[in-house]
Amino acid sequence: AGLRTYGWPYGQRGLVATVELEGSIGSTAWQRFLPTGPLAVLPVRGGDNMANIVWTVPPALAAELERMSPQEFAAAVNKVLNDPPASPVTGPLGPLSALPLVGPLASRLADTATTTLGALSSALPSPQGGDAYQAPPRISGWVGSSPKSFPLQLRHAGRYVRPRLVLVGDAAHAVHPLAGQGVNLGFGDAEQLAAALAHAKETGSDVGDVLLLQDHYEAPRRRANTAMIAAMDGVWRFFGVQAGPLAAARNLGMSLFNTAPLVKNNVMQYAMGTW
Ligand SMILES: Cc1cc2nc3c(=O)[nH]c(=O)nc-3n(C[C@H](O)[C@H](O)[C@H](O)COP(=O)(O)OP(=O)(O)OC[C@H]3O[C@@H](n4cnc5c(N)ncnc54)[C@H](O)[C@@H]3O)c2cc1C
Repeated sequence: AGLRTYGWPYGQRGLVATVELEGSIGSTAWQRFLPTGPLAVLPVRGGDNMANIVWTVPPALAAELERMSPQEFAAAVNKVLNDPPASPVTGPLGPLSALPLVGPLASRLADTATTTLGALSSALPSPQGGDAYQAPPRISGWVGSSPKSFPLQLRHAGRYVRPRLVLVGDAAHAVHPLAGQGVNLGFGDAEQLAAALAHAKETGSDVGDVLLLQDHYEAPRRRANTAMIAAMDGVWRFFGVQAGPLAAARNLGMSLFNTAPLVKNNVMQYAMGTW
């Protein structure tokens, strides 16, 4: 259709797996920021002792993790989730340094979470603002399909609308999964497109009118999506810095953020699309 996209590869892969847990995860999403990329353990609907893993890793490590048995995979995940800060990770994963940038983060998911991937607030600390340490969940193994990984990239279509054609969801924009915003952006597109089509019907216009769709669908969604795409890319770069004054300032900022429940709640509501 002659639609162009722009963006760049992150040089990392997003590894996904469904895992069984030794205990219950409740409605808490866990995310640990490792030097290689974030590891998220996300609750799934209807399975208190089940979770989804989304782990950003370099390609070589992704290949290694994909080949692991359920037990080897559990050992690898449990190790990086539970290692104290800055301790080296050895074994099949090689010499990773498990240095969480903001400590173990526990974020409460709203019970009304609408995404099946359940990562609505995975990058955020507890809105309760409590400092009490919570032990991360322990994984007993992957279940169902073995872990699979996908190349991660930022990609945004130059236009969402062409005659008799609209792009919605990931067809229009792909973001880094580190804050679980991909599905929410797609839901936002669908909602706006439905409103644009309803407007066309009410005003007796052609539902495929390119100018109408540009004004009532493409323009508002481009603004919202561009802001979130830029924010996600910024967060990725922000957490990618491992040393030096910027890393120290970032860690201090995250500690302050963790003690400000009002700010945290607002950020979380925005990420969940309820603010
Ligand atoms: C590793 C990873 C982890 C992620 N984690 C999260 C997360 O935790 N939370 C979150 O919100 N988002 C996450 N995302 C992003 C999320 O998966 C996507 O934003 C979301 O799936 C996009 O939905 P979609 O319907 O637009 O596209 P898709 O889910 O890609 O659906 C498109 C469908 O169209 C089908 N299709 C393609 N071409 C054709 C064709 N020619 N004919 C017929 N069918 C076709 C495809 O097979 C596919 O089923 C993650 C993404 C990755 C890669």
